[in-house]
Amino acid sequence: MSICVACQKPLEVELEPEEYEEDVQMGGSSSGKAPAAAPETVPDDVQLNCGCHFHWDCLLEAYQITECPSCGKNIASTSPTGTQQVLCTLNNEGGLQENLDILPLLTEESYLKAYPNERKCRAFLEFCREGDMQAIVGMLQGDNEDSDEDEDEDEEMADDDAEGSADVGIDALLRYQDPIGEMQSGLHAAVQAQSREVAWLLLLLASNLPAAGVSA
Ligand SMILES: [Zn+2]
Ligand SMILES: [Zn+2]
Repeated sequence: MSICVACQKPLEVELEPEEYEEDVQMGGSSSGKAPAAAPETVPDDVQLNCGCHFHWDCLLEAYQITECPSCGKNIASTSPTGTQQVLCTLNNEGGLQENLDILPLLTEESYLKAYPNERKCRAFLEFCREGDMQAIVGMLQGDNEDSDEDEDEDEEMADDDAEGSADVGIDALLRYQDPIGEMQSGLHAAVQAQSREVAWLLLLLASNLPAAGVSA
């Protein structure tokens, strides 16, 4: 098997051992279960068109717009419609995908690396694009309620979050416009996705916002 050119490790990741931990705990009691074997792994392999292989995270870490971070070759090409694309062969938990254009994802991740506190706004936009009403409502209601199921983690992260995203209120989410997506707002996204429910929800919420710059 080939290795990642960035970290020199095999092109696979271990699955989160959630169920596995429970088994081990129960194994200590009278159930008599033997501890489970080594954690399961899944492929995590991005092959660029220069031939270099990366872990997805390693590629994001090292990524420089249109050059392979390892060999420096130009990895961008032009699609039949004239737009720039970065094709790769992706093999991960979701299976094998050939000729996958990862430029939108790479652009998104590079942007978030530069502006990490916009992560929440961008997630909100993504939900609007998908017309995912439940996720939107959850996000607007209680901040981290369904993003992290582990309560201990939530508490630990609370301090970090306080600085970055605590000031991202509903109004900021509603007013956010995508700087790398033609300044698209959540409402634009919902309309484009033909998600009537989400569009109405956003309109309703927006109508309750005080006009910018005017104090009530
Ligand atoms: Zn790696
Ligand atoms: Zn390369």
